[in-house]
Amino acid sequence: MNIVLFGPPGAGKGTQADMLIQKYHIPHLSTGNIFRAAIKNETELGLKVKSILDEGGLVEDQLTVDLVAEELAFARYNSGAIFDGFPRTVFQAESLDKLLAKKDARIDFVFSLEVPKEELIRRILSRGQGRTDDTEEGIHNRLEVYNKETAPVLAYYKEKGLVHDIDGIGTVEEIFGRIAGFLH
Ligand code: AMP
Repeated sequence: MNIVLFGPPGAGKGTQADMLIQKYHIPHLSTGNIFRAAIKNETELGLKVKSILDEGGLVEDQLTVDLVAEELAFARYNSGAIFDGFPRTVFQAESLDKLLAKKDARIDFVFSLEVPKEELIRRILSRGQGRTDDTEEGIHNRLEVYNKETAPVLAYYKEKGLVHDIDGIGTVEEIFGRIAGFLH
């Protein structure tokens, strides 16, 4: 099963991904986590993307898609993945469809976490994970990029009838219940 967790920064994608992994044992594929690990390990990729992440911009599409293609080649993704923070552009969404088609797979569900902007900012500022992009300016940029580049991805999936809107307000368990309700 392939699931896209969709939503603006701070919507709770990572938290809900963790819950899904625990319950359904589907591996998590977070491009943000891959980039942060590369930065931490000072790899070539890390050096290339560090300033982009710090500023809240988007890493180049083809680079991101190639990375996901490499990741999806691992056997652990043979029965699916939870995509978190990817796809973030329509190009990435189309590329993902092609990558999955090669494996005779497809996106089965897109869960769109709906959270008002003020709440997103409050959550990001209070999550205190020490992320270098969790500053007022970084958040502002990420929300702007989200509205411009990423929001159209939702229309792409809506057209395919894959999107389930999830009220992203409530406890972690309540929100998870709303998602899991579609998976039984
Ligand atoms: P995230 O952990 O998903 O919030 O991602 C953190 C940062 O990594 C983003 O603000 C982008 O700079 C970069 N990033 C993560 N995923 C992508 C993606 N799919 N396309 C481009 N940039 C990404």
